[in-house]
Amino acid sequence: MEKLIIIGAGVAGWTAAIYAARAELKPMMFTGAEEGGQLMLTTGVDNFPGFPEGILGPDLMQNMKKQAEKFGTKIIQKNVTGFKKINEGYEIMVGKETYSAKSIIISTGASARWLGLPNEKNFQGRGIHTCATCDGFFYKNKEIFVVGGGDSAMEESIFLTKFAKKVTVIHRKDVLRASKIMQEKAKKNPKIEFMWNSEIAELKGEPPLKSVVIKDTKTEETKEHKIDGIFLAIGHVPNVKIFGGMVDLDDYGFIKTDSRRRTNLPGVFAAGDVQDRLYKQAVTAAGTGCEAALEAERYLGEIKE
Ligand code: NDP
Repeated sequence: MEKLIIIGAGVAGWTAAIYAARAELKPMMFTGAEEGGQLMLTTGVDNFPGFPEGILGPDLMQNMKKQAEKFGTKIIQKNVTGFKKINEGYEIMVGKETYSAKSIIISTGASARWLGLPNEKNFQGRGIHTCATCDGFFYKNKEIFVVGGGDSAMEESIFLTKFAKKVTVIHRKDVLRASKIMQEKAKKNPKIEFMWNSEIAELKGEPPLKSVVIKDTKTEETKEHKIDGIFLAIGHVPNVKIFGGMVDLDDYGFIKTDSRRRTNLPGVFAAGDVQDRLYKQAVTAAGTGCEAALEAERYLGEIKE
């Protein structure tokens, strides 16, 4: 039985691994399919303290992984598929394999939210995308819609102007949620336009996507627009499916933790975006990853591991 298993390899998970490994807990880390988390989908990170010139998201994650490995984290590049309570701790399932640990840190992050239209997934990667840095390249000199009104929508729109002829931000309200500085940057960009009080009501094409029907959220009027591609930037949904019914969630589906990153289950801690509806920053994920590891160490001491 392991002392500690960490599930999820984003900023929170790697930070927890660094602290737990240095505390000689010999943590086992399951990276899952999306190793590196959200920072793998971004370009420059300008607000992680210690990097005055900024750092690329994937480079930051690679550095954290190296640091966690250096102190003895056992890294397993597999996806955890199940979780249950056993007498002395917890069992996690990875397909047909099982692993057990006295304590667990959940740092599974959050994944991109989709619109929820019936045929949407047919267009996934064939007209509808959730990562501009991954797929923007395919839209050289094309026209693109970006859906959303937050910082991600602004960031993705600005990034996409490197390739696209024109980027139109489709937002369901007439005010943006994004920070002032990001709003200004986007509004100043000559390739970016805004379509206010609008939402995508229908997707048309074989696939690939050919056109969309846009509905005015005030008048309910609809109009069809030809478009080459759509990038969604409408927030993220916490990855909690494998903990179904066992770990308490808040009203928005995020794992409930107390100020010491404890969940409702003894010895199970959560860190990073999976438990953070409010801040969702790399540095706050690192902070809660650290807290979860320190608390796991304390817990293991208390149960005399
Ligand atoms: P947010 O939750 O901040 O914004 C989501 C946006 O999508 C909102 O404008 C929301 O509309 C809209 N939306 C949500 N659901 C739907 C839907 N079903 N259909 C249409 N529109 C929808 O998410 P972000 O990903 O933008 O940002 C998350 C966090 O990360 C924030 O704290 C942000 O500040 C931070 N961030 C910071 C960056 C930076 O500093 N460089 C870059 C990117 C993110 P409505 O406004 O009407 O609710």
